[in-house]
Amino acid sequence: MNRPSALVIGAGPAGLTAAYELARRGVLVEVCEASTVIGGLARTESYKGYYFDIGGHRFLTKVHEIDDLWDDLLSADLLKVSRLSRIYYDGRFFNYPLDLSNTLRNLGIRESTLIMLSYLRSRVRPLPDEETFEQWMTNRFGDRLYRMFFKTYTEKLWGIPCSQIQADWAAQRIRGLSVASVITNALFRTNHVKTLANGFLYPRLGPGMMWERLRERIEGLGGLVRTDAEVVRLRRAGDRVTAAEVRIGGQTLEISADHFISSMPLTELVRRLDPLPPDAVVEAADALSYRAFIIVGLILGRDDLFPDNWVYVHSADVLVGRIQNFGNWSSELVPDPQTASLGLEYFCDVGDSIWSRSDQALVELAGKELQQLGLGRSEDVIDGVVFRQPQAYPIYDGSYREQVATIREFLGSLSNLQTIGRNGMHRYNNMDHSMLTGLLASRNVLGERHDLWRVNTEQSYYEEIAAE
Ligand SMILES: Cc1cc2nc3c(=O)[nH]c(=O)nc-3n(C[C@H](O)[C@H](O)[C@H](O)COP(=O)(O)OP(=O)(O)OC[C@H]3O[C@@H](n4cnc5c(N)ncnc54)[C@H](O)[C@@H]3O)c2cc1C
Repeated sequence: MNRPSALVIGAGPAGLTAAYELARRGVLVEVCEASTVIGGLARTESYKGYYFDIGGHRFLTKVHEIDDLWDDLLSADLLKVSRLSRIYYDGRFFNYPLDLSNTLRNLGIRESTLIMLSYLRSRVRPLPDEETFEQWMTNRFGDRLYRMFFKTYTEKLWGIPCSQIQADWAAQRIRGLSVASVITNALFRTNHVKTLANGFLYPRLGPGMMWERLRERIEGLGGLVRTDAEVVRLRRAGDRVTAAEVRIGGQTLEISADHFISSMPLTELVRRLDPLPPDAVVEAADALSYRAFIIVGLILGRDDLFPDNWVYVHSADVLVGRIQNFGNWSSELVPDPQTASLGLEYFCDVGDSIWSRSDQALVELAGKELQQLGLGRSEDVIDGVVFRQPQAYPIYDGSYREQVATIREFLGSLSNLQTIGRNGMHRYNNMDHSMLTGLLASRNVLGERHDLWRVNTEQSYYEEIAAE
């Protein structure tokens, strides 16, 4: 009997996991990755011996199977890292996750009293609607605390007012966190709050290690992982996809397979189907949008900057949103222990005034803002490098749910195409959930029946309020 074949689009966490499971189970599998580096949003870049994580990826999961897979792939190379991350606001550092005594001490009696009054007001007279992020948060934290700790950062992240962000995002990320739970935790040390994850796993050379290991395993089982191979068209006939047109280097190759699993953004998947789906589906895909992200890597000639893994910057007078201190994730990310490497993260839109700056202007901006915040001196900056990431965050705007439902219904009519991962499902999936969708999609190929759209909808989750 012929072995079934599958083409996986994208060598990010989801695609590689799907391909590994397929290869392990005897399917002939090929992965096509558009970029020259594998790992997608969770790749590790390197520059002059320094490793840069595109964002700082914590390996944290409640999904046992994924936890076991991480352990199987990297075991001794996975470090257990203790977490320290603080919020920088109004010239002061606040422990994050919020810690009652530290917050009250930092704010002083007057401000703390005003916060409590505002909180009580929101309990007695909550806003009747909870459609938006602003309403959802105000009802749980009170207006004053919400404005202080959540509004500025969230607006930097999304680039739109919190009154236009759907409550789903907050509900999905921070279910279970409220002022009451923070207070209860402080008083009774219950620590049931999901955001209080105070440690995580991390590959000693960054997440890229995990993806390289997966690639080795896939290829060891006879699978193929092609890089610089962009799927530009998916031909369909009836209810099936028959072949993919792949641009490899300067050439175009047609690859047919029995099954197709895609982790490319939903917008692009729809646009690349040939023939195109009905207009309503194409319009729905075109209406989805994404937030982009730039990380400016700075190398500094000193190693004593700050103890945090990362700092959230809530001050509105700088553009930077978050600062990673990579040596505090793993010392092996920094080749010279007398130096430090930081990642200053700027959330933006492709083509906007941040995105359009030259790399040199961005390095200068990052050095200047670091100094302005008092977290380092610009004269200590020895070198800098810029990494740009379009489509970093799928945007949950007022209509995305409807658009995704329209696309999903159409894709459901294709019997041998599945879409997985984060942008592939336009869902705020972290690595574990992205990988889980890949795993389940492969099992569907093998005859099981899993609804991928149920992943990351009901499981309780640990994530934190501010963002990834
Ligand atoms: C700033 C930031 C911080 C994060 N922090 C964390 C964290 O701490 N912990 C955590 O668990 N998760 C974190 N995440 C989420 C994590 O990065 C994602 O869940 C994960 O990378 C998604 O994997 P994926 O395979 O679905 O998609 P991606 O990583 O986006 O991979 C998709 C791949 O498909 C390729 N591709 C696209 N189109 C085509 C095409 N037409 N042909 C061929 N290839 C194509 C892309 O080049 C890409 O490599 C973070 C994300 C960001 C942006």
